[in-house]
Amino acid sequence: MSLRGRCLAAVLSLLCACVPLPKDVPAATDKSARRIAKDVYFIPGRFVAGEQPDGTSVLLRGRTGWIVIDTGRHAGHAETIEAFVEGSGAPLVALVNTHWHLDHVSGNLPLRATHPRAEVHASTQVVAERNGFLARYRTQLETLLHERVDDPQVPAWRNEIARIDGARAFEPTHPVDTGGMRTLDGRPLRLGLQREAVSGGDVWVFDPGTRVLVAGDLVTLPVPLLDTACPGTWAEGLASLEGVPFEVLVPGHGEPMGRAGFQRYRAAFRGLLACAAGPGSDAACTDAWLADVGDLVPTAQRAHARQLLQGYYLPQRLRGRPERPAYCPP
Ligand SMILES: [Zn+2]
Repeated sequence: MSLRGRCLAAVLSLLCACVPLPKDVPAATDKSARRIAKDVYFIPGRFVAGEQPDGTSVLLRGRTGWIVIDTGRHAGHAETIEAFVEGSGAPLVALVNTHWHLDHVSGNLPLRATHPRAEVHASTQVVAERNGFLARYRTQLETLLHERVDDPQVPAWRNEIARIDGARAFEPTHPVDTGGMRTLDGRPLRLGLQREAVSGGDVWVFDPGTRVLVAGDLVTLPVPLLDTACPGTWAEGLASLEGVPFEVLVPGHGEPMGRAGFQRYRAAFRGLLACAAGPGSDAACTDAWLADVGDLVPTAQRAHARQLLQGYYLPQRLRGRPERPAYCPP
């Protein structure tokens, strides 16, 4: 691949946009918080072809205010969170970030500005990535801005740079260095940490009171997002979620699912890695993934899933000799 091609591939990688260059989306109009359990609300993400994604968010009511898990990428996502919190009359008291990808942490910037006393619970991997992945990504964006001054994506690239420049807001006030119970605003939660899965520091949150598990990008639809992942150990790590007594699992991208849905996802993931290691074509492996996940990927999302898997993740991240992050096992 040419230098330009490698550059673009890297720029696009975290964006999951192997397709047209991503563009920023205006304030979300199709999102609203919906109750998924007592005192637990879900805000959908957004993930469509040609646009940068927003991850999902979950809001838990604590003793005095709200605990918000993940804050999305675009301004509209954080605005939805802010509107919900404001409308409730209770303050935002804590943020939890499942990992450092921009589609899960960028809303920290405006939300921490409005709620400066809010605690931030997250892995410290973001500190390393400020000088690692995010710094490299920023350089690539600067190169694009320099070389393509008339590109319609210029505003989106500038927004990405602004997010990266605000990355101090992604750093935890309360680091998650190990799994275990942690009480946030009077609400006891069980946190897990996986280092060799998706991002070098994947935090999941289980709420024993409602049996809701917020899995972050350990579970993503319409396909596993493999940009910074260690595929083999990620697949193995999914086994540890089986042991969590959840009734509802909220993925980092996609709709909440029950245990049967998660088991189907896990089996499909194993099948995808096995297919990628075998002689089947990228198209055949994609067909098998879609057959295995069934209605976890609705018909309307299948073309996008195919673009992502057949057009990018299989040839670029699962096959050949893709670069693996340092936190992946050799
Ligand atoms: Zn994500």
